Amino acid sequence: MSAVYLDFNATAPVRPQAREAMNRVLDRVGNPSSVHAAGRAARSELEQAREAVAALVGVVPGSVTFTSGGTEASALAIESAVSAKFERILLGATEHDAVWEAAHVAGLPVEVWPVEGNGVADLAWLDEALARPGRALVCLMMANNETGVLQPVAEAGERVRAADGWLHVDAVQAAGKIAIDFSGLQADTLALSAHKLGGPQGVGALVAGTRATLARRQHGGGQERGRRAGTENLPGIAAFAAAAREALAGIEALAAQAAWRDALQARLEAAGATALGKAVARLPQTLCVAADGWSSETQVMVMDLAGVMVSAGAACSSGKVKSSRTVEAMGRPDLAACSIRISGGWSSTEADWVRAGDVWLEAQARRRPKIKEVA
Ligand code: PLP
Repeated sequence: MSAVYLDFNATAPVRPQAREAMNRVLDRVGNPSSVHAAGRAARSELEQAREAVAALVGVVPGSVTFTSGGTEASALAIESAVSAKFERILLGATEHDAVWEAAHVAGLPVEVWPVEGNGVADLAWLDEALARPGRALVCLMMANNETGVLQPVAEAGERVRAADGWLHVDAVQAAGKIAIDFSGLQADTLALSAHKLGGPQGVGALVAGTRATLARRQHGGGQERGRRAGTENLPGIAAFAAAAREALAGIEALAAQAAWRDALQARLEAAGATALGKAVARLPQTLCVAADGWSSETQVMVMDLAGVMVSAGAACSSGKVKSSRTVEAMGRPDLAACSIRISGGWSSTEADWVRAGDVWLEAQARRRPKIKEVA
């Protein structure tokens, strides 16, 4: 039986259209900054790609700055707010490390904005926090990478704007999975990453509204309007654009995957697992489940041995599993080392989701119930 990949939130398989775009660019010579014909063709490729990425979130192409990924996009946003003399950071409790770590080294006081038990940020807390003195950079992700829970970004945007703050939205997981209209969010900056939507790793973008002045993060030849110097990663950018076009066209189809996800959720819950964030709006292809006393690491390993690839709730680059800050913030520290994330996407089938359930349930049945791996 062939392996099942249900770890799209870590990285999605590259879409054929993205591969084709990358190969097309690699087969041609040309630096977008060169004035000759090859350079002009490369420039045209770059600007067409910018249009496609802009269309993903409903902005004009000039709002898009290409970066090396979602991490750099959020770093650029946070550093820009620091340069613009914002005085403090209100940081969502379930933010990805890309934002969490960058916020903590920004040199400004950080206050963690709590979530309620379902993983949704508490807007009453935000109201109180914004009423305190000091212009605030507010960081709120659009969709959580572990649970898929959607945050009230537009509601936050309205409040942050009224308080003359800066709202940065990490939309790395949401983009290409649900519709995004940047202007409706009243956000100032928004981070995107190609490899979560079927493009290659190592390319992303920061979208900036008219109120945001971006800092010059990388100095040099003045590319990306001086905001990020260095010859553009044109093969990656072209592939990002191709993936973005396909993802945008496939949003409705992806929404239907919620039925397969929900069916799996019901099977696992019937066997005693806890589904996290299930009572609120979530990405359609993400399921976070915890099994009390059964470590995330073991669950991932036994599923992998049976040919199904999923993730622990939170993984770090070393491949080691650490306990989930998201699950802890949701008031379930007891489950933070026992949660796994199952995430599908554009190429997943119903059979993949069924197989994940079969494998998990078989492994669970083999466990000796009295042995607790997590104290
Ligand atoms: N933000 C979120 C929510 C993510 O899930 C990830 C990737 O795991 C990132 C940011 C980082 O993106 P990139 O890998 O493109 O740097």
